[in-house]
Amino acid sequence: MALIVQKYGGTSVANTERIKNVAARVARHRENGDRIVVVVSAMSGVTDGLIKMARDLMPIPTEREMDMLLATGEQTTIALAAMALHSLGVPAISLTGAQAGIVTDGVHTKAKILNITPKQVHAMLDGGHVVIVAGFQGQTSEGHITTLGRGGSDLTAIALTAALKADLCQIYTDVDGVYTADPRVIPNAVKLDEIAYDEMLELAGAGAKVMQLRSVEFAKKFGVIFEVRSSLNDNPGTIVKEETRSMEDVVIRGVSLDKNQAKLTVVGVPDRPGVAAGIFKALAGAAINVDMIVQNVSHGAAKPVTDVSFTVDKADLLKAQKVIQGLKPEIGYRELLTNESIGKLSIVGVGMRSHSGIAARLFETLAGQEINIDMISTSEIKVSVVIDLAKAEAAARAVHAAFLE
Ligand code: ADP
Ligand code: ASP
Ligand code: MG
Repeated sequence: MALIVQKYGGTSVANTERIKNVAARVARHRENGDRIVVVVSAMSGVTDGLIKMARDLMPIPTEREMDMLLATGEQTTIALAAMALHSLGVPAISLTGAQAGIVTDGVHTKAKILNITPKQVHAMLDGGHVVIVAGFQGQTSEGHITTLGRGGSDLTAIALTAALKADLCQIYTDVDGVYTADPRVIPNAVKLDEIAYDEMLELAGAGAKVMQLRSVEFAKKFGVIFEVRSSLNDNPGTIVKEETRSMEDVVIRGVSLDKNQAKLTVVGVPDRPGVAAGIFKALAGAAINVDMIVQNVSHGAAKPVTDVSFTVDKADLLKAQKVIQGLKPEIGYRELLTNESIGKLSIVGVGMRSHSGIAARLFETLAGQEINIDMISTSEIKVSVVIDLAKAEAAARAVHAAFLE
């Protein structure tokens, strides 16, 4: 008798028909004698709708109340999913993140899981129930409701798998698994049978929203092997696991495009020690994650100044602007520019470690499409470029064709 954690994302529970479909799948697994913990997201569009309402009231909503609001999305789904199972005669019970024992720090909207004490989950499983847990949410030790960052139901599922020492973790979504690129943008993308944690991490960090970045970090840290698969068919999915030797034979595992980044440029910053530290410390203090950073060569001999550009999630743009504007008296830069019309295109593969010339080939492919590169960053297994958003999808198709077709 296996213990299985199954997570169903927003599109898999988008309406009551889809919820019935999930209930039927869960009931089938239970007939095999397995014990099942189900993690669900909010119905698709619900979280976005709640965020929009909050922003209508306040451009930068108070974060504690934002979490109180967003947690309601998942709470709707757990109750509906439990009812759908009851209607099939399956004993099931819904639990909020807090009831499932998920304790987080107090960084509202991006909380980290500190520990999980799933006493109620165990008790309900022992009583023969399917346990349905609200994804994306937790509670601080003081009892404040928190959320785990966008896409955070993935993290709930993986963390619960580790805490419960479950035998299997299945992430059910609206595509058959992890592809060489987003199949909605690149029709020639193919499904991967397996992918290494590090590759999945880089793809997730580069915008492939099929898995939340933090959930993959957690899985790697705790060695949670999981499968990404479709809730709409029975095709085998993609297994995400530790790297194996044969994985290095493939140079590029995937291409990913992030259209959710914005660029800020602080123009005319004094070029002296400590200034960059001041800027990025202030951003970190506001819990803003900075992705790419580029500093220009300084100009002006007497009082050298430079320009510092960096990217953040679009959702953090207003907050980042406010932080940098607050630094103006201290740093004395000339102006702050922002650009939301950018796309970050990345290629990822553990095979890059043992193959050279990959970046050059990427740049050549982009040059062939007359695409200008704005920023570049690399890691051992990834090359990313920032380009004009208007050309980003065409660029992604050309790069996929060059490396993966
Ligand atoms: P869920 O609601 O189930 O959490 P998401 O919308 O968060 O699902 O993630 C699934 C989506 O991720 C797919 O519909 C697909 O468009 C997108 N996606 C982006 N990159 C990839 C990729 N490399 N492989 C598969 N899907 C991808
Ligand atoms: N509902 C949350 C979101 O839309 C969490 C999730 O779907 O995983 O980001
Ligand atoms: Mg998701």
